[in-house]
Amino acid sequence: MRSIRRGDTGVAVSEIRSILVGLELLAETDPDVFDDALEDAVRAFQQSRGLGIDGMVGDETWGALDAARWRLGSRTLFHSVPDALVGEDVRTLQERLLEMGFDTGRTDSIYGARTARAVAQFQREVGLVPDGSCGPQTMKALRRLGRKVVGGRPQWLREAEAFRQSGPNLVGKTIVIDPGHGGGDDTGVVVPDGPLRWNEADLVFDLASRLEGRLSAAGMRVHLTRGPSPAAPMSGSERAALANSLGADLLISLHLDGHSSGSAEGVATYHYGTGNGLSSTVGERLANLVQREIVVRTGMHDCRTHAKTWDLLRLTRMPTVRVDLGYLTSPVDRERLIDPMFREQIVEAILAAVQRMYFPVERDVPTGSIDVRQLRMALAEKG
Ligand SMILES: [Zn+2]
Repeated sequence: MRSIRRGDTGVAVSEIRSILVGLELLAETDPDVFDDALEDAVRAFQQSRGLGIDGMVGDETWGALDAARWRLGSRTLFHSVPDALVGEDVRTLQERLLEMGFDTGRTDSIYGARTARAVAQFQREVGLVPDGSCGPQTMKALRRLGRKVVGGRPQWLREAEAFRQSGPNLVGKTIVIDPGHGGGDDTGVVVPDGPLRWNEADLVFDLASRLEGRLSAAGMRVHLTRGPSPAAPMSGSERAALANSLGADLLISLHLDGHSSGSAEGVATYHYGTGNGLSSTVGERLANLVQREIVVRTGMHDCRTHAKTWDLLRLTRMPTVRVDLGYLTSPVDRERLIDPMFREQIVEAILAAVQRMYFPVERDVPTGSIDVRQLRMALAEKG
């Protein structure tokens, strides 16, 4: 089309004018005339969009103006292929997400894969289905958050935010390993095996000690909640208080399970959550990583991850998971758990999960595929 320029009149001019007024580049004046003020506004608009600045509205500038019409919330945004959605609403969304610490890349007004991924991350953190599209539900969450962000970050993003800011490196992070039970009569699950008696408290302490060595070697500060034979049992709230006082970045609690049926077997991981949407998102991510790494590396039966409100999960101020590493009452699981080589495999899996927690999402690798040394080198490279 012919460029619309100074001196022109008509519907197209009033259309351009109304878009520029909406963008606050122009005060409302004579609606139908392309005057000097309108030309200035067009130049300002062209400059802000990186277009050629000629003060006239040709095809390119018109396309940009058309996209600029969209107000965030007036349509559902999604990653459309091959033609991505473009518009002012996308730009506004990208700016909001960036302000909140989500990586959308450039604020280029284009709803591409990276923006969709940032939206999915936001959705996950506010307990929505992480589908990467921005519809009414996500808009509602953004609006709610928009108000809260003024007076400081909302509580449910704080944990995730603190975690993100702590950087992609294990070195210097504090992790608390909590071997379950121990102390007095609290031995956890006990299973007689011929002349032997296997008990949960001793086996998880062995696992915790191995893990302590591996995590320390990776540069983390590691604390155990108890020694091999503490004088008195410790409650979940006491363990949580200890981890809080240490200012830990992560807590992993180790248990074994038991059941009256010998056929119950497998590994399960627990994170804080009420089961109806309210969940520690970082805890849930850690739980998923721990669970998947163990299942893939050991082939143990997958009893999945679950949200629980147990004291240890609820009272800790850092992402916390509890993993039940198989059933001591299962002949299959027990046979493996009493083998130190198998316990090393579990330790390797948990180490890989912790490493992946601090590995940028976009550089994450398939479960079970991490050679921990390679990962450490990649992280060191990254600085
Ligand atoms: Zn236990």
